[in-house]
Amino acid sequence: MTFLGFGLGLSVHKGASFLWTAGFLIILALVLVLMARWQVWPLAEPLGQILGGSRPQAIEDLPGAWFALERENDDLKERAAREDRLLPGIMARLEEGVLLFGPAGALEQFNPAAQRHLGLGAPLAKGMRQGEVFRDQEGADAIQKAFRGISCEWRIVRVGRTLRVRAIPFAPLGPVSGVLLTLDDVTSQEALETTRQKFISNVSHELKTPVTAIRIAAENLQEEPLPDSARASAQSIMRSVDRLTLLLGDLSELSRIESGALHLAPVTLDLGAFLETLLRDFQPRAAACDVGLVVKVEAPEEAMIQADPLRLHQVLENLLSNALKFSPARAQVELSVRVTSQGQIWEVCDQGPGIPEAEQGRIFERFYRAQAAKAKPGTGLGLAIVKHLCRLMGGEVAVESRPGEGATFRVILPPQVEAQESPQEDPRSGR
Ligand code: ADP
Repeated sequence: MTFLGFGLGLSVHKGASFLWTAGFLIILALVLVLMARWQVWPLAEPLGQILGGSRPQAIEDLPGAWFALERENDDLKERAAREDRLLPGIMARLEEGVLLFGPAGALEQFNPAAQRHLGLGAPLAKGMRQGEVFRDQEGADAIQKAFRGISCEWRIVRVGRTLRVRAIPFAPLGPVSGVLLTLDDVTSQEALETTRQKFISNVSHELKTPVTAIRIAAENLQEEPLPDSARASAQSIMRSVDRLTLLLGDLSELSRIESGALHLAPVTLDLGAFLETLLRDFQPRAAACDVGLVVKVEAPEEAMIQADPLRLHQVLENLLSNALKFSPARAQVELSVRVTSQGQIWEVCDQGPGIPEAEQGRIFERFYRAQAAKAKPGTGLGLAIVKHLCRLMGGEVAVESRPGEGATFRVILPPQVEAQESPQEDPRSGR
């Protein structure tokens, strides 16, 4: 700039020759070109950030960079258009029905399977209210619950098919902004399950008579004067008959519970009297196993509880039988109960071998028996019965155990009568 000023000053004040002026103009042009090159940088920086690798280094690179930017823009547009087509494409091919209700409870999205499964008289349309799509009270309640952040599941029958409907809180940006519903046709699954239950129920019922006949025959045989080998055979028959009787009893009980044929008869019970009856049965059994049985009660004086005594007894009997069965001699089994306004918490705690963590999730399945327990008598159905009975009573059962340190089975049941009159929502059940 100093050089430029000096040149201009000379030309104005001293009247320079043509040659001098031409030289000056060439130098000026050179300076301008150099300046232009330097001025590329403020432009090059942001362009480089956008284009990544294709960052322009000089003014001559600008057309290339511009072209790369345009290409990138086209790619992005194409990708966005593909994604726009992708979602409806996926939705259209899904076997499950999918519906999305927006924050105001109006239908925002749905797929053809939803239309097919629901079989409504009129076609589904955006903006429909949830009451027009699900007319049952159960559905309306479940959707409201999902709006409050709790997932729910229920079944409906439409066009002769059974549908399992799941309502899931839709919260892609944090707070719940809608409810996503999925519809599965579970008609054949249900039919299969009913057939399985009927089969088990029929088999266990039909087998009871011949098993009783074998028992009577084996008992009669044992009363005869028999050689030792025949007596041992008769005893072996009796042991097998005992196992079969146990299995058939558990099978028919489980199929009765699973089929919904078992109904609870809850009454208000005196906790003290209930425990007394339970212990009258179990103290002799614990003594026979050489195991101490301790009871701990944490409840108001003369506490009353709401329960079906037969079923609660059955749950605790199964848990206590297991605790005794798996306890070593001279160990201790503890039965504890805590009654609060929130509900009843029953615990059966033993000092047996415990249950490996990998097996803890499976022991409530029918017929599952942990590897280490195979030497002990059992059917593998006791805990499945406990799980179903607890659910029927509105509660849950869980296990805590560390191998070598015993096991604790915890049953949580809903509150007493007074508290049940104003039911509270139970987020664990989801309904
Ligand atoms: P089973 O008739 O075999 O006892 P259950 O359904 O009652 O059937 O129990 C399933 C399995 O859970 C048992 O076979 C055993 O492996 C495990 N189990 C249950 N209770 C206990 C316990 N108190 N200690 C260790 N293992 C247990």
